[in-house]
Amino acid sequence: MKKKVLLFSIITIVVISSFICITFYLKEQKIKEHEKIVENTKTKYNFYTENKINKKAKDKTTLIFNTIIEEADKNNNINFENFVNNTITDLNDNSSLINKIEEEQNNYHNSLDNLTFVNVLKTIDKKTDKKTLENIYNQNKFIQNIEEEKIKREEYLNNLTTLKEEITYFKENKELYTFENNIYFTKNEEVYNKLNEFKNKYNLDLNIKKQENTKIPILCYHGVLDEPWGLESLFVKIDEFASQMEYLAENGYTTLFVSEIKEADKYAKPIILTFDDGYKDVYTNAFPILKKYNLKANIYIISGWLDGQTYMSEDDLKEMANSSLIEVGSHTVTHQALAKLSNNRIEEEVKNSQEFLQKLTNKPIDVIAYPTGSYDERVIDSTKKYYKYALSTINGKEDPANLNTYTLKRIYVYRKYNLNTFKNLF
Ligand SMILES: [Zn+2]
Repeated sequence: MKKKVLLFSIITIVVISSFICITFYLKEQKIKEHEKIVENTKTKYNFYTENKINKKAKDKTTLIFNTIIEEADKNNNINFENFVNNTITDLNDNSSLINKIEEEQNNYHNSLDNLTFVNVLKTIDKKTDKKTLENIYNQNKFIQNIEEEKIKREEYLNNLTTLKEEITYFKENKELYTFENNIYFTKNEEVYNKLNEFKNKYNLDLNIKKQENTKIPILCYHGVLDEPWGLESLFVKIDEFASQMEYLAENGYTTLFVSEIKEADKYAKPIILTFDDGYKDVYTNAFPILKKYNLKANIYIISGWLDGQTYMSEDDLKEMANSSLIEVGSHTVTHQALAKLSNNRIEEEVKNSQEFLQKLTNKPIDVIAYPTGSYDERVIDSTKKYYKYALSTINGKEDPANLNTYTLKRIYVYRKYNLNTFKNLF
């Protein structure tokens, strides 16, 4: 009996002590494992604070720290005044300014809502220690001030939206001002005021000057052809014409129809392009270049001379008239020097050409160019009955506020001119 009790006691002791041992061992293991997790959490955090971001890592701990660091970094950068000073350097480059603002808006959109502590804790996995994470969070100013931060960011986004609207205004009105030698010039009262408002609001270093009304040049071309079949000086070479149009397009010129000449005042650099006689090469060579640079031009057609070989065809003319880049006008029926004709003949030339061209193009024909620049009082009287404007060949520019309505001045462009001569014509 005694033996049995002893055996039982021994077994009990062995069982209990091994139980204690196992429990102790397991607890040890658990602590070690926990320490590992804590270590892992800290390591990852240090990893990120040291800027050794592994962008390929996809585990949740990495993603959490990524978000914290990114948001905290953004937090440091949120300063609207700095953004304006670093971004608004050249108002003329308005498309790229708008892109930069939109990029900035996207940077700050939607980021805050996901970053509340509750939401972050929901996403952690077993490899992250909650307490450690909590400590890190509590040390992070950005997280502590999350509500303040929200307000700050909303304000920032609102400022960006307003700024974008302001830049859009300058983009939409870019033809009304120019930027040269670091000075913004405009003739337009509203644009002038908006530029000044903008400058003062953001305390920018902009030079803004009100520009006096400038006179508008009306350029007079005939042909655009490399191998002329007629008077050589009147045929500008194709390459030369192309570089002239490129120059106008790239230097802020606004091309107008003659019928729009009274509005020339609104634009910083208005110019009118005219082509007399209606040569075929204006359709084949000049028109594609005008389309390429989206420039408007005016062509004056001898209504009796449309034939499709040296002069353009009716179809050529209709296509151009419908293109929205070309305004068609009359150059009489038979290209006679009008001042040498009888009153009846003048009337015929002026009236019949208009009728014919109106029917053909289905557009109003309100402008005439006097053939060879010939006119007198009788010619003007007759022209006034049918047309709103008439073009002479008198050299010079026109003042939109004081137009020579029935003897508009022009500037010839000759074949011998190089680009430099061209630039100095107006
Ligand atoms: Zn002519």
